[in-house]
Amino acid sequence: MSETPPLIELRKVAKEYPGAPAPLCVLKDLDFHLEAGTCIAVVGPSGCGKSTLLNLMGALDRPTSGDIFFAGRNMAVLSENELARIRNRDIGFVFQLHHLLPQYTALENVLIPVLASHAAADAHGRAVALLARMGLADKADARPGQLSGGERQRVAVARALINRPRLLLADEPTGSLNEAAAQQLADLLCELQREEGMAVVIVTHAPAIAARFGKIFELHGGRLVPQD
Ligand code: ADP
Ligand code: MG
Repeated sequence: MSETPPLIELRKVAKEYPGAPAPLCVLKDLDFHLEAGTCIAVVGPSGCGKSTLLNLMGALDRPTSGDIFFAGRNMAVLSENELARIRNRDIGFVFQLHHLLPQYTALENVLIPVLASHAAADAHGRAVALLARMGLADKADARPGQLSGGERQRVAVARALINRPRLLLADEPTGSLNEAAAQQLADLLCELQREEGMAVVIVTHAPAIAARFGKIFELHGGRLVPQD
């Protein structure tokens, strides 16, 4: 039978944004693949296209040209419903800002992706366990406004993991945190990756954090260049 395809594969991907006098070409001729359960960090100066790349990997946007395959399926030919299902079930997102809903408790925020996916009956138990794993057992009923920045990001990580995604995309997840909170979040992300076995793509400006996620790539000239 056929080999297992990479979890995500980009072939000759380009991304341009409309602009005057010429379009802005952010990604160009980008080839990349990531196997299930593996991690990389992406570094590069502000504006080089890191968020653009994560948005494409997460099916939040489409490339101008080239193809992106998720578990061997070309995302270009999937319906909006199928893409939404992949986004919700197979991919977890963590952004620089937590994007928690202020009117809901930490526990309710963690459960939000489950509402859309009609996922397993154990979701509530998993949400409670994930919050405990994030050191937030006593904050389940707190609202985001009652939490510190680091605590909010840890709730956002629990929310990203509730559906057991195969891929976690983290876009500068520690970018708004102080040094201690950033280290704590990075520790937890590394531990959870080992425990849950998902693949991780993390964008970070912090070399110490990048180094903990296996291979480091610099986004340079619209392509991913491995660092040694
Ligand atoms: P990074 O995350 O590395 O800071 P981005 O991917 O956010 O970079 O942006 C790359 C470039 O594309 C920047 O010059 C940015 O201004 C531009 N850009 C990003 N999103 C859009 C958009 N929706 N429309 C037009 N230009 C954009
Ligand atoms: Mg960015």
